[in-house]
Amino acid sequence: MSGILDGKIALITGGTGGIGKATCKRLTKMGARVVSTYLGESKAVEMREQMKEQGCNIAIYPCDVSDFDQCQALADSIKNDIGPVDIVVNNAGITRDTTMKKMTAEQWQAVINNNLNSVFNVTRAFIESMLERQTGRVVNISSINGQKGQFGQANYSAAKAGIHGFTMALAQEVARKGITVNTVSPGYIATEMVMAVPEEVRNQIIAQIPVGRLGKPEEIAALIGFLASEDAAFITGANFAANGGQHMH
Ligand code: NDP
Repeated sequence: MSGILDGKIALITGGTGGIGKATCKRLTKMGARVVSTYLGESKAVEMREQMKEQGCNIAIYPCDVSDFDQCQALADSIKNDIGPVDIVVNNAGITRDTTMKKMTAEQWQAVINNNLNSVFNVTRAFIESMLERQTGRVVNISSINGQKGQFGQANYSAAKAGIHGFTMALAQEVARKGITVNTVSPGYIATEMVMAVPEEVRNQIIAQIPVGRLGKPEEIAALIGFLASEDAAFITGANFAANGGQHMH
């Protein structure tokens, strides 16, 4: 595994979260110089120190990915400090679950801004440099609930479904320039968010998963690592379900 991404610079948004951390670790082990964005500084510093103890050197930059200008500034800073980014993993995301009858405009907009507009903001800031260099990988993290919908998640399902539309359109625009764009749609993964759900509810979720367990963040990270590699050069505009068979289509 080591060496596959040697010399590559990878940006992972929300790299301090469950799937993000596993992805930072995976891409580092594959040889990439990994950069993560953060919102909460103390959590990010703690993550960087933890990673260092495990032999992974992660650079961290503050950036609210829902803010277009902050993403432009992030691109400039990384380019000056480290170099041009080869791999962008749009992973940052939030939920504000509630039924339509109760959903406020703020809850709708927060989820669209943080989960979908962020994918535009970040990709827009890095794509020109990829086009100039005629190489690049964009991996967008969607969700099983963007594919099948979910009760109480009209905002989240809309944002996550929108991500794959973005993937397919951009994939066509940049394919001839050596850039691939793909979507990964995880099912229920054993991150802090899902493990915080009461055990009884978690067991009900697990009962709907043919594989019979939650996914591991490392399993999502492994797929992202493959899509970021040269071996995946012929794969673009695709949506990869990693959900233990919970939703097949
Ligand atoms: P976490 O909540 O553990 O991590 C989310 C990360 O996104 C955090 O690091 C958070 O930073 C960051 N973030 C949120 N909003 C912003 C923003 N505006 N700017 C910068 N960073 C931001 O989530 P997971 O690891 O569980 O999920 C990662 C991705 O995978 C998300 O897109 C999620 O929707 C998707 N997913 C997760 C599933 C699961 O079962 N866990 C299932 C399907 C999809 P901070 O902590 O500093 O706020």
